[in-house]
Amino acid sequence: MPIVCPRCGEKGYLVKKRVAGRWYWYVRHEEYRKGQRRSIRQCYLGPVDRYIYVERLNPLRLRGIVDTTRYLDYIESAITFFKVEISHRNLKIDKSTYNRLEKISKLLEETINEIKKQIS
Ligand SMILES: [Zn+2]
Repeated sequence: MPIVCPRCGEKGYLVKKRVAGRWYWYVRHEEYRKGQRRSIRQCYLGPVDRYIYVERLNPLRLRGIVDTTRYLDYIESAITFFKVEISHRNLKIDKSTYNRLEKISKLLEETINEIKKQIS
């Protein structure tokens, strides 16, 4: 069944490909020519499991864009690691940090209220 490619917005087929021992998601775009279907290009969507090299320095549990719940996990990971940075005093805390956190908090509150309306 075709999907809308999250990268280019065109229709294509979600496929898993094994490259150098690891699995990756792609969207294969096809066209019909003379009654035959042929692949014209593919869009890379990311690894099936996780980004190993990126995660070594930024352990946010990043995943390919096929995973629709990934942003919730990113928010959770980011807050967890942010708190660790604060506790280890690796982060300069000042009024600007406070203001940014307050802005993020308001965004979260707005999002929570929108979701609350949708589920009730
Ligand atoms: Zn695409």
